[in-house]
Amino acid sequence: MAKKYDVIVIGGGPGGLSCGALLAKWGFNTLLLEKNEYTGGKAVTPTNKDGFSYELGPKLQVPAQGPSFAVAFKELGIEAQLKPIALKASGLAYRGRSGKYNKAVLPASAGGLDPAPLMGLLELDQSQQDAALKFLTEMALMPAEQVSALDDLTTEQWLSQSGDVPWPLYSYMMMHANGSLAEPIDLVSASEQVQIMQDIALKGAAGYYVGGFGRVLDDLAKAVKSNGGEIKTRTRVEKIKVSNGRVTGVTADNDTFEAPIVVSDAGIQPTVLKLVGEKEFDQGYLSWVKGLIPGWCFTGVKYFLNKKVLAEQLYNVWADDTALNLERFRKQRAGKVADEIMLFATVPSNWDPNMAPPDKQCIVAGTICSPDPKAEEIKTLHDRLDKMWEKLYPGVMDALMYKEIEGPAEVSEFTRDSVLKGQGGECVGLGQIVGQCGKYQPSPKAPIGGLFYTGADVGIAGMGTHKASGGGIKTARMVLQYKRLREAMI
Ligand SMILES: Cc1cc2nc3c(=O)[nH]c(=O)nc-3n(C[C@H](O)[C@H](O)[C@H](O)COP(=O)(O)OP(=O)(O)OC[C@H]3O[C@@H](n4cnc5c(N)ncnc54)[C@H](O)[C@@H]3O)c2cc1C
Repeated sequence: MAKKYDVIVIGGGPGGLSCGALLAKWGFNTLLLEKNEYTGGKAVTPTNKDGFSYELGPKLQVPAQGPSFAVAFKELGIEAQLKPIALKASGLAYRGRSGKYNKAVLPASAGGLDPAPLMGLLELDQSQQDAALKFLTEMALMPAEQVSALDDLTTEQWLSQSGDVPWPLYSYMMMHANGSLAEPIDLVSASEQVQIMQDIALKGAAGYYVGGFGRVLDDLAKAVKSNGGEIKTRTRVEKIKVSNGRVTGVTADNDTFEAPIVVSDAGIQPTVLKLVGEKEFDQGYLSWVKGLIPGWCFTGVKYFLNKKVLAEQLYNVWADDTALNLERFRKQRAGKVADEIMLFATVPSNWDPNMAPPDKQCIVAGTICSPDPKAEEIKTLHDRLDKMWEKLYPGVMDALMYKEIEGPAEVSEFTRDSVLKGQGGECVGLGQIVGQCGKYQPSPKAPIGGLFYTGADVGIAGMGTHKASGGGIKTARMVLQYKRLREAMI
């Protein structure tokens, strides 16, 4: 006999867990199915045999104050368990017009990042500094309705309309589009990027958690169970069952689980094209789904060091000609990887000392790349990351014990199935590109009765986990309303 539930959630990433925990709390008999050994999705924090804990790629919480996790934890009554750590300072290195890399440490305050050291780093003269400060202030304080009005513009289009933005500041925005949104400046929606820059400027710059992001997700998984829900890991959903235009449940590992509502955190494209199947949708919807553009990926190297080398919690390294726009991305895809690339890194134990054995350090470093699991440039990018450390922070390679690598193939295998050419390794999901966010954000409600999406694809404005967990909350509220309306009709 198939087991019956009120709702089945497919996938235990930040979106699925936030959604599942809230639905369980609100009285839904909830089953969450996760294909991996453990829940957490792209935000897991494993610990290796030597006692190093780290994330899949450099991870930061933006906004540091009031992220979606805090909203979910409060609603679940477990807010005391969320243990955020604030950014103290970030290490930046930038090669500008002088042709050599300048380094700066930007202190963070409760209010956000102090822009003063940035001006020196960017080699701005006085009139450029005045223009830069004006631009940064206006961007930070832009009212919400003006931010929303930027939905239709890429950041590049918006900046070119803004007039006198000094070139190094444009380059800084390019780096942020890549580093914070995993998108190029000529594809990313200006509304989405401004929202994130506001979060950085005004809400504590960036944060992390005691025990890493994985601990936050473990707490959400515990909340699913403590509210009466069930979680089955190592259980891959093969099919979402549909009858007469309504979902009836799922099949997973030769088992059938029944429910009138199914919420999928597996990504819109894999859900529609693989889990449900094309025949259940009309052609217009299918062509919209197939036309959605995947976000880019981070490919990374984790460096395990026999001593503490780096002092800051996070590092960003870039140059005017290393930040990726579409043209440079296409060259990289064609195998012409530049000698220097951008480098983003976090040092988990500089946030929480328990993340590494005493006197040792793990650096989680990455650079932006295609989400294509078959991307061939990944190995070269890893070699370039090593060279960037040798050039700028040579102590890292001197103290190296061993490395671990990852790229879009690993991200896809671990989280989102590749169902379209070049898709699968998305770092965030869909939704930060013009036409896919803001007023164009895909709805959590699918055109099949009882089927909902959750997670980053249908999330709120903002960076990765904030977007995805916000998507979980949004979907949970919609499912609750759906159930109430259906009950009212019967
Ligand atoms: C390298 C890297 C760096 C990042 N850096 C940051 C950062 O600094 N800050 C930040 O906020 N965000 C960052 N992100 C993004 C963030 O991790 C994602 O936005 C977030 O995890 C998306 O959550 P989600 O719930 O939408 O999906 P996911 O995290 O992808 O979770 C989906 C879950 O569904 C499961 N699943 C899929 N298909 C099935 C199936 N058929 N059956 C059962 N289970 C299934 C998967 O195994 C997975 O657990 C980063 C991501 C990567 C990869």
